Amino acid sequence: MTNRYSRQVLFQPIGEAGQVELSKKRVFIVGMGALGTVLATHLVRSGIGYVGFADRDYVERSNLQRQTLFDEDDVNHALPKAVAAEKKLKRINSEVQVKGHIANITKDNILTYVKGSDVILDGTDNFETRFLLNDAAFKLGIPYVYGGAVSSRGMQATFIPGMTPCLRCMVDPGSGKGQTCDRIGVLSPAVDIAASYQVMETIKLLTGHKKDVRRTLLSFDVWRNDRLEIKMKQAHDCKTCVHHDYPSLMDSETQVTVLCGRDTVQIIGEERIDLSKWAKKLRTLGDIELTPFLLRIKLADNKVIVLFPDGRVLIQGTQDPEEAKVLYAKYISC
Ligand SMILES: [Zn+2]
Repeated sequence: MTNRYSRQVLFQPIGEAGQVELSKKRVFIVGMGALGTVLATHLVRSGIGYVGFADRDYVERSNLQRQTLFDEDDVNHALPKAVAAEKKLKRINSEVQVKGHIANITKDNILTYVKGSDVILDGTDNFETRFLLNDAAFKLGIPYVYGGAVSSRGMQATFIPGMTPCLRCMVDPGSGKGQTCDRIGVLSPAVDIAASYQVMETIKLLTGHKKDVRRTLLSFDVWRNDRLEIKMKQAHDCKTCVHHDYPSLMDSETQVTVLCGRDTVQIIGEERIDLSKWAKKLRTLGDIELTPFLLRIKLADNKVIVLFPDGRVLIQGTQDPEEAKVLYAKYISC
């Protein structure tokens, strides 16, 4: 063993044996944004055998405040995050196999990407994808290390099939709606701390210290200096870890339809929408029109989002269902 890892090996619970274990392990990170770049940096430096990841976006200037693997050159070249990250990570540690995929993770491709991983890590920014990761992890029997950050708050939990409840047990699919970094911002220390907890739990799992993994959902606020641990409790009728139905892999939750000739994509969510509540949540996005029947928001780029009380959302100004889904995930579904 080279002395590259000496400070980690000196930590007794890891030791030489743990380091050898790490070099044989494979992890997959979904999302290479704020969380993903911190996750990948630590995991590659720690000497894990294979670090794979997927991301659908390009590096933008507003990412640089917190997405620590990227720089202004990446912005100027409009590099895909998966490409920019792969290049940097390979320079950090050539002993690790690093593979970035430019891809939008969906119910159709997720199993292919994460199959064979020892741990699946959450670097996403929306709950639609998180429930997908959760269901894929429980279907394949792979631990899912969840993390999230928005505003000055962070969260982290580790879901292990057969041993702990799952994300669906702990988080109501509709609970975090509208609270996205694109709307209320995010502080980089909140992201770093959440991601660092994810890395630590991952290293425990990969070096055979499952019993030392924290069994609570940790929530903290770096601005208010709050810290809270919530006990995990299995929901008696959980569709993922009790009934093994894996609803996110079935794609019945959100129906997406392109409305022909109208330059509009319709997305039908699971839940009813309280229009006046949403008018308040989305008021910073653009011009808002609220009627008893609908809420219409004109975005800066001429796209229009229309919400209806029955859960229906129209994204106008596009015929591309993928683009509409990205906007929906960004502003509505999170
Ligand atoms: Zn569950």
